[in-house]
Amino acid sequence: MNVTNLEEKYNKCTLCPKLCENRSQVVFGSGNHAADVLLIGEAPGAREDSKGIPFCGMSGGVLDELLAHIGLERNDIFITNTVLCRPPNNRNPSKDEIANCKERLDNLITLMQPKVIVTIGNFATHSILKKTGITTIRGKVFELPTKVKVIPVVHPATYLYSGRNKDKLELMKQDFEAIQKVISTNIGQLSMNDF
Ligand code: URA
Repeated sequence: MNVTNLEEKYNKCTLCPKLCENRSQVVFGSGNHAADVLLIGEAPGAREDSKGIPFCGMSGGVLDELLAHIGLERNDIFITNTVLCRPPNNRNPSKDEIANCKERLDNLITLMQPKVIVTIGNFATHSILKKTGITTIRGKVFELPTKVKVIPVVHPATYLYSGRNKDKLELMKQDFEAIQKVISTNIGQLSMNDF
């Protein structure tokens, strides 16, 4: 089994009836299957649902700016979401939906074996670390029993909801600088081979 096989397995997933009814497609993820860095967001929005690519809307624009701030491009990483299908009217994913999608997320992590996981926002952070309170733990480095480093960051949508508050963006850049530090200490050269 590889990441492509996993994507094929979940492309027609029917575990969440309400999400199946509403989605245009399953948004499995995008980027480099061999990446050492895995980013996990919340759930696809309208644009992601129509294009099939995570973070391709306004939040994605902010995310790209933050990645560029630490010299990363989409192809250096892999991005997925806590839930693969767009919740109706962009509501929060439910506990059941998150639980339904967790085996897929765990399988992805097992197959990719990333060295660093970035959890974007409260839902992804809770799903991986079982911790809440993103504003308190953002930018801190946690370690899973498997030794994988996990860094929670504030969701880029927070910056958009703030009316693009410059101080918020500054804090988010600091969190990404923490990611950069972990990458250079634990990985050094990112593996960008074997798409
Ligand atoms: N917000 C997310 O959490 N994920 C996306 O893919 C897009 C916006």
